[in-house]
Amino acid sequence: MNGAGQNGIIRIFHVTKSYGSKHALVDLTLDIQKNEFVFITGPSGAGKTTLLKLLYIGETISEGQILIDGMNLVRIPRNRTALLRRKFGIIFQDYKLIPKKNVFENVALVLEAAGMKTRLLQKKVKSVLRTVGMEDRSLAYPPGLSGGEQQRIAVARAVVGDPLILLADEPTGSLDAESAEIVLDLIKRFHGRGGTVLIATHDKELIRKAGGRVIHLNRGCLIRDETK
Ligand code: ADP
Repeated sequence: MNGAGQNGIIRIFHVTKSYGSKHALVDLTLDIQKNEFVFITGPSGAGKTTLLKLLYIGETISEGQILIDGMNLVRIPRNRTALLRRKFGIIFQDYKLIPKKNVFENVALVLEAAGMKTRLLQKKVKSVLRTVGMEDRSLAYPPGLSGGEQQRIAVARAVVGDPLILLADEPTGSLDAESAEIVLDLIKRFHGRGGTVLIATHDKELIRKAGGRVIHLNRGCLIRDETK
């Protein structure tokens, strides 16, 4: 269903994003329900990253509106953007871990920012690191880890705050096949616990393995919305 659902956790209405005279997204209307597993795909320059950025207010919308869990991004006051961002966990192709902080600290940052008390924070971080199979590497620093290990930490960081929505931008783009499978499995577990997942990728193999809804963009336009 495209643009018609009433209970969408992500509701996008006629959104256009322009950079000067260049349109990165054009009149996009889309509705994503709670607990959907959605791929956003299309060739390089199609608008995949731009779409994810608009959702977490990494960029402003040029035209149209987006509702996230009922919050209208166009009208959201500045002092509530942090609250909105806490609804998201985000994974990037290049992990974006802080090299000078160890694994535990990288994951703990999210909970510190949310003001969580130390004892609960430690329990949560240990637990999520166990889930991604990295509890033994708590004191390691990102530059000493493989790409696959770094992405597992990035997944831990993305889900530790119990977000509603996981956004992933080419999450397996820098990984070997085995690590990619582990990361996909971790994302699926988040989905299995009731989370909503949006993955931007041009990796057809990843889409084939995972299945789910696939939204195709080309030159900023939605060209196909199908379920595999
Ligand atoms: P994708 O993720 O599908 O490769 P993007 O969302 O990164 O595509 O980009 C969509 C289009 O918007 C591209 O033509 C890109 O050059 C343009 N674009 C993206 N970000 C910017 C920016 N900050 N300034 C100017 N143009 C941009």
